[in-house]
Amino acid sequence: MPSQPSSGRRPRAVNFWDDDFEPARHLAEQMGDNRNNIIERLLAHWLRRPGAELPERPPQEVIDAADAAWQARKKDIHTIARTLPCPDCGVDQGPCLMGKGRGKRPGTGLHHRRLMAATRRYEETHSDRNG
Ligand SMILES: [Zn+2]
Repeated sequence: MPSQPSSGRRPRAVNFWDDDFEPARHLAEQMGDNRNNIIERLLAHWLRRPGAELPERPPQEVIDAADAAWQARKKDIHTIARTLPCPDCGVDQGPCLMGKGRGKRPGTGLHHRRLMAATRRYEETHSDRNG
């Protein structure tokens, strides 16, 4: 079925790099805003909508702190992921196997479903600190 016209706001799927999207959530909250609102304002400005203004940019040191916090969180998630079995390549722990058939070898990346499971576990164990 083709997309149906909508009369209002609705969720849209857009791809972003984690290294930009994840710190942006923290930064937006620190500035009393939210990530969705900032993206909407950027888009409205880009579309030259009347009255649209660019959102205020956070100070560089605040961005640096948010980036560092995300990198630490990402490292923890990867560490957890390596302790979980991978539903895609079948390893019980350690690096995922990348490649096909007999060419499968331990790689530097981790399969998405394994990372998502590790992210859920991380969120469970850190929910007290994150509110
Ligand atoms: Zn895997």
